Amino acid sequence: MEHDVIIIGSGPAGLAAAVAARGRDKSVLVIGNRWQDSPLAKAERVENYLGLPGRTGMELLEEFHRHAEQAGAEFVTGKALALMVWNGFSVTVGSQVFKGNALILTPGVVRQSKYPGEAEFLGRGVSYCATCDGMLYRNRPVVVVGLSPDAPKEANYLKRLGCQTVYVSPKQPEGLEEDIPFLRAGRLAVKGEGTVSALEVDGAEIPCAGVFILRPAVAPTDLLPELRTENGAIQVDRQMATNLPGVFAAGDCTGAPLQAAKAVGEGHIAGLSACRYLDDLGTF
Ligand SMILES: Cc1cc2nc3c(=O)[nH]c(=O)nc-3n(C[C@H](O)[C@H](O)[C@H](O)COP(=O)(O)OP(=O)(O)OC[C@H]3O[C@@H](n4cnc5c(N)ncnc54)[C@H](O)[C@@H]3O)c2cc1C
Repeated sequence: MEHDVIIIGSGPAGLAAAVAARGRDKSVLVIGNRWQDSPLAKAERVENYLGLPGRTGMELLEEFHRHAEQAGAEFVTGKALALMVWNGFSVTVGSQVFKGNALILTPGVVRQSKYPGEAEFLGRGVSYCATCDGMLYRNRPVVVVGLSPDAPKEANYLKRLGCQTVYVSPKQPEGLEEDIPFLRAGRLAVKGEGTVSALEVDGAEIPCAGVFILRPAVAPTDLLPELRTENGAIQVDRQMATNLPGVFAAGDCTGAPLQAAKAVGEGHIAGLSACRYLDDLGTF
């Protein structure tokens, strides 16, 4: 399905961008984890959001989400796992692909450090999506590195495919089927030669054919390696344009201050800029 604007990230910046773009009558798809997963949901009291002091973060997010929904934005709940730039932008979520003509990145702050061996074996035993790649490992041993809330479900799915599944995580998982062994994660490294042969956990190797590393989000520079960043923040101009044509960014991902009001303001500008970009192309 094709939209004028695709937004990756469902926090304050993404929702504000959606409202702005809908105001210019563009079709908008917001791809994001559940809106309740924005870090703002953890704020017990937000005192500095103009005109609405004393709300909880969850209350604000609920209003933001409702506003974007009422404005006509469409939503897909899930992780944007891959992005292809060709004749617009194609974003992969699970086994689905969504196409847009302008792209707004609002992923918040995404931890970007990788495990040793992870980048080297990506696509050769390392995967970020059990739903997409699970069948490749049917009846073979796999390890799931569970860092996101949906990781236990993905591990259960792999087990149902016949994979001999081990679950590694920094904390006790919720919803993991009882017969899947769980190890508390320490230092991890992906090992192999050509393809993955093991995951090393605190110096001990677990032999496996696949390692599924399931984080809550994929860093924007993994989605778009040519994206220019500085000290981990996406570089933007005052129109929230990045160095890549048709790609805009807003919110915490563009750097400090990490505040909801800044995210909303930048999201609004990014939404308008994406519409101007489409109008200048002249085909929308
Ligand atoms: C405890 C706490 C208290 C806070 N209190 C305040 C306060 O009082 N006042 C204030 O102004 N700010 C406060 N903040 C900061 C505020 O939460 C952030 O500045 C704001 O949420 C940033 O909005 P954003 O839209 O840029 O990013 P986020 O809110 O982080 O939203 C980004 C969303 O996109 C998702 N995402 C990322 N990558 C992908 C991907 N590849 N696919 C799908 N989804 C993806 C993320 O999971 C997340 O849900 C607080 C933060 C915390 C943690």
